[in-house]
Amino acid sequence: MDLQEKHITLPILKRVKIRGYRSLDKLPGKILNATIKQVGYKYYVSVCVEEEKEEVIYTEQRAIGIDIGIKHMVVTSDKTYYENPEFLKKYERRIQGYQQELSRKEKGSKNYEKTLRKLEELYRKLKNARKKYLEEVVSKIMKKKEIIITEKLKVKEMLCKNNNPKSVRKNISNVMFQKILQTLEYKCKWSSKIFHQISTYYPSSQICSECGYKDLAMKDYGIRKYECPACGIQLERDYNASRNILEEGLRELSLA
Ligand SMILES: [Zn+2]
Repeated sequence: MDLQEKHITLPILKRVKIRGYRSLDKLPGKILNATIKQVGYKYYVSVCVEEEKEEVIYTEQRAIGIDIGIKHMVVTSDKTYYENPEFLKKYERRIQGYQQELSRKEKGSKNYEKTLRKLEELYRKLKNARKKYLEEVVSKIMKKKEIIITEKLKVKEMLCKNNNPKSVRKNISNVMFQKILQTLEYKCKWSSKIFHQISTYYPSSQICSECGYKDLAMKDYGIRKYECPACGIQLERDYNASRNILEEGLRELSLA
């Protein structure tokens, strides 16, 4: 099979021109077999290859901790912040607006239906834009490490009522959080990386990632900086949490 010359050599048919192959110079690994399928006037050939995977050695240095939150969308233990971009926020604000408009309209009326359609269209756009953006973020994170450690979403934070604008905002965030986790898990699975979620009850925001002191005052989400009463270190709240998530994950995986 020669992808650069756009040909495949098959038994009986010999050298056949191909198009629409994956953008690879050559197939990785040994070709095991090829299957030809006819759909209408088109012929498809799928080639099964056996690929030798480089064995990954999982060590502490190859791990990264990830904190997901409202203030900063994603913070990693190597101190990188990935924010919710402005173009997504714009969709979210418009959705909030339409949701409010909808709540003032009579259910079933023409205007109600019209707004509802606009709202659905916006949700669809948000979904697509978010998917693309999250894949970019996840790719960036995954390029760095082989072990991805995150938290499970807390059930309490997931529960919220519909309709009021605050809840709409929260719902959108929750969907975002779930999408980030799903994308990470999915991509890890396909690239033989480890995806690990630490226990829901681990107080990642309350512990000092430097000395291990536990500060209950940090339960207050409004406190944005961890100022350790024991060792004196000052760290941004979510960054401190990401370092704790990494440590706890390594401990649970018996790598620390
Ligand atoms: Zn400390």
